[in-house]
Amino acid sequence: MTEFDLIRQYFDRGPPRHAELGIGDDGALLRDRAGMSRVIVTDMLVGGRHFLADVDPASLGHKALAVNLSDLAAMGARPQAFTLAIALPGVDADWLGAFCRGMFALADASGCELIGGDTTRGPLCLSITAIGEVPQGAALRRDHAQPGDDVWVSGALGGAAAALAALLESPGSLSAAARHRLDWPQPRLALGQALRHLASAAIDVSDGLLADLGHVAERSRIGIELRADLVPLDPALSALDPRQALGHALGGGDDYELAFTAPAENRLAIEALGRSLELALTRIGSAGGGRGVSVVDARGRPLADLARGFDHFG
Ligand code: ADP
Ligand code: MG
Repeated sequence: MTEFDLIRQYFDRGPPRHAELGIGDDGALLRDRAGMSRVIVTDMLVGGRHFLADVDPASLGHKALAVNLSDLAAMGARPQAFTLAIALPGVDADWLGAFCRGMFALADASGCELIGGDTTRGPLCLSITAIGEVPQGAALRRDHAQPGDDVWVSGALGGAAAALAALLESPGSLSAAARHRLDWPQPRLALGQALRHLASAAIDVSDGLLADLGHVAERSRIGIELRADLVPLDPALSALDPRQALGHALGGGDDYELAFTAPAENRLAIEALGRSLELALTRIGSAGGGRGVSVVDARGRPLADLARGFDHFG
């Protein structure tokens, strides 16, 4: 059973009765008064699964909030507030001080504040619920991509997956830059909000580009064709053999870049946006009439056997 089968079978009770958008996207939407929609997202980090026991607590505080803000970014939302539920094995003042420094630095930089939560003793586990807002009808959903749209991605991919693989295999070989990519992801909030009027659909790359674009293809009922040679590779991948590098970029999670679709007439505006944000925005493929995500090389020949992304129950 995959993670998504489990959610569908046990938690998804069909189209929401009151919410504007329920289970199945990066965030849920609740219609507000005054032309705005409230956006709500939740992500949990569990010790031993999402991070190693010796993780720098400042980076953990940053990342616990960053992965949630990344979901708000993928909805085109502006963050407002968050709650923190935390289970701690005990009270370690140094650890908590560093954790809070990391978390609140990102909170302050993103204009959102901690408004509540829950604290208990137990194996280290963190769950944040973040709340944002977006003008009604302007949210970037997964289900509005159209055949003929371009497919884009921000930044570079595969750095976090390469860092994790190196960390598990030979920790000494890991460069500081690669480690930074894994531990300090930057939620693309300014990009998400700027894409409200340019993109037709968006998702953040948390489980791997192929898996995450697969959700867009499925919910939009389109096919996506990716050009492997156009996918921007993190500099940390240059030391690897090309096939392994591509595997990390297409199948590795934890990059927290935004993948999005947009009509071809918005190309120049999107390129200009990338320059103004000083963030690489790369056209990596196109949406068509088929189903699912396929990957081709520069000459259009299909590439098979590529990693399909991370699934907690797969
Ligand atoms: P993301 O990677 O963007 O955080 P997920 O892949 O974790 O999204 O989840 C897919 C969808 O299923 C989301 O809409 C999420 O809110 C929903 N979901 C996940 N777990 C549960 C749950 N236990 N109950 C209800 N909805 C859930
Ligand atoms: Mg997401």
